Amino acid sequence: MTVDSGLTSPLGPPACEKDAKALQFIEEMTRNCNTVQERVLGEILSQNAETEYLGRFGLGGATDRDSYKSKVPVVTYEDLQPDIQRVANGDRSPIFSSHPISEFLTSSGTSAGERKLMPTIHEELDRRTKLYSLLMPVMNLYVPGLDKGKGLYFLFVKAETKTPSGLVARPVLTSYYKSKHFKTRPYDPYNVYTSPNEAILCADSFQSMYTQMLCGLLMREEVLRMGAVFASGLVRSIKFLQLNWRQLVDDIAVGTLNPRITDAGIKECMGKILKPNPELAEFITKECEGENWEGIITRIWPNTKYLDVIVTGAMAQYIPTLDYFSGGLPLPCTMYASSECYFGLNLNPMSKPSDVSYTIMPNMAYFEFLPHDPSSPAPAALSRHSPPPLVDLANVELGKEYELVISTYSGLCRYRVGDILRVTGFHNSAPQFKFIRRKNVLLSIDSDKTDEAELQKAIDNASILLTEFNTSVVEYTSYGDTKTIPGHYVIYWELMSKDPGNSPSHDVLDRCCLSMEESLNSVYRQGRVADNSIGPLEIRVVKNGTFEELMDYAISRGASINQYKVPRCVSFSPIMELLDSRVVSAHFSPCAPQWTPERRG
Ligand code: AMP
Repeated sequence: MTVDSGLTSPLGPPACEKDAKALQFIEEMTRNCNTVQERVLGEILSQNAETEYLGRFGLGGATDRDSYKSKVPVVTYEDLQPDIQRVANGDRSPIFSSHPISEFLTSSGTSAGERKLMPTIHEELDRRTKLYSLLMPVMNLYVPGLDKGKGLYFLFVKAETKTPSGLVARPVLTSYYKSKHFKTRPYDPYNVYTSPNEAILCADSFQSMYTQMLCGLLMREEVLRMGAVFASGLVRSIKFLQLNWRQLVDDIAVGTLNPRITDAGIKECMGKILKPNPELAEFITKECEGENWEGIITRIWPNTKYLDVIVTGAMAQYIPTLDYFSGGLPLPCTMYASSECYFGLNLNPMSKPSDVSYTIMPNMAYFEFLPHDPSSPAPAALSRHSPPPLVDLANVELGKEYELVISTYSGLCRYRVGDILRVTGFHNSAPQFKFIRRKNVLLSIDSDKTDEAELQKAIDNASILLTEFNTSVVEYTSYGDTKTIPGHYVIYWELMSKDPGNSPSHDVLDRCCLSMEESLNSVYRQGRVADNSIGPLEIRVVKNGTFEELMDYAISRGASINQYKVPRCVSFSPIMELLDSRVVSAHFSPCAPQWTPERRG
């Protein structure tokens, strides 16, 4: 049913009065993209006029774009780190923002092996909540009747720490789920979850997942949509069902709760929901006991209309697995966001993953775009003295690629996010962007991002274990294997042994895997230890001469012999086949690496 509220929307007839207002807001923002951007920059600069950071550049209270662009430099996290550290250490003076820093958001991007710390202010929660409030009104334009059932969403909080000064540091979603904006959200028939808040907010990932899955099974016929933040999370949830369905079925059959669930809040709320239901237990047993899990999602949750997960960027690797489990349900990617700032939403959510474009909402921050040449892998060089010609949101050109640069209300000024986007069209005057890639990411399974330098360092550290065997790693490459659940890093090694009678044993090579994991960044290690979202790292030792064959293959396909470089990450099937056919032994990390929420060093 649609409403005739007098508030019509060019996006389509809204499903209810509230949606009409949200769609109207999207129209207003996107029609007046440039004016809104001008206003946002003016607000940010006047709000933060007295901050130490802006004071350094002699803006003298100016709030216009020209002064800002000519005086304030474009920066990276590393440029800001000394000031961020001052805030972390307790300096409460207005360094970045005139509003008090309420907490740090810990990004999955790392610096020196640790999550980047993004200072944020309380009012940003309202801005994030506003963007969330636009998602269902858009979805309701494409999928009717979402108020007639529930969403099975696997949502989790992660560990949080305190900086030396006592400010909380945690991921942005943990901050959001723990906020009153989420916990005491008003009832909205279009946005009812099967998971109780108690389960979402339980820090123990097993108890949280178990309860969320149990509720999803109990309410299976009501489930109209299923989701997680990223595709990897939903794939992991299905794997969890594969591993734990027997215990879940026992609970459903008898109406009791698995003794591994000890969280008092969960026990209390599940006590009210759980009742013996032998028919349901029998049904789930029948579906899960077979070997064939193809289409399991629609078999257990037959009314599911779509899977709400992000499958753009690094997550595209999970599309085949999700298609297998769901029989090809639509995969709307609803939003594009980061710890630094929530950027925008997908106004055409039912499009194919390869066609997904995000419309950046001009009210979220001030956005600039650094032209990026797709043919040159090196990031654009920047000089403090001659600011590069950054392009405004309303002036980007169709078909061109850019790196996103943001200025936020929290006080990040002309900050390079590291994402490369391509303009694919416009909604009113607001450009729409395809997410192309994040710069400098070689391997990614979940939210981990490993770059070439980190991989090299990990190989160097692991190689130390080989020195007593007079053995060295002569060549290597890597592969993110997402056919296993959870996915894992595979590193191909070609070894040279000067003393073949004393080559490293299986056990030594297993320990090399662990040594590599110990060297990787904290997001990787957290995925291994706390989230179980990454499986043990694998080293595949290949026959001598394999990398030469790899080069021959590349040259046969047109690579220049003079410029040939070993790719440090591979995914092209013929190359994988060549490598895998030359494997002489495979080794896995024997245990998990060290990780604690506390930062190293
Ligand atoms: P984080 O800083 O950990 O919050 O991660 C934010 C980053 O995740 C962004 O800068 C992107 O690189 C990536 N990301 C977020 N949303 C999307 C999306 N919809 N599609 C592709 N990548 C995304």
